[in-house]
Amino acid sequence: MRARTKANFRVPTDDELILLTHAVHAPTRGTKTYQRQLNGIRVRYDCKCGCPSIGLQVRPGAATAKAAYEVADVGYAQYDDVSDLCWVILFIRDGKLSELELAPMNETPSPRAKLVRLESPGRDILYSAAEVN
Ligand SMILES: [Zn+2]
Repeated sequence: MRARTKANFRVPTDDELILLTHAVHAPTRGTKTYQRQLNGIRVRYDCKCGCPSIGLQVRPGAATAKAAYEVADVGYAQYDDVSDLCWVILFIRDGKLSELELAPMNETPSPRAKLVRLESPGRDILYSAAEVN
């Protein structure tokens, strides 16, 4: 059997865009550059464990930030198919948005799960699906 090749990059879902929009405000340097990199960004599931973590691909020619490598604590996400929170971490490599990791505390949400809530590292509510619906 042929080894499964990695999925192609695609347009982010609404929930992924919500996470990414908040995530680009978390880094301490180059925030404006990262906000601009969201324009035309493409994503794919990169993690073998089946969680909703996504690899990121900025559009060709997008300006890169001065900080070559950064890891930003975005906060905590809650999904509708598990009771636990996920820790949300943004990775920047070579001055570009590189990965949005969702690290489950215990149970792993599926990629089909809906984002219910996003909290900042200080636990302020950044997004709540209940307020949207
Ligand atoms: Zn995973």
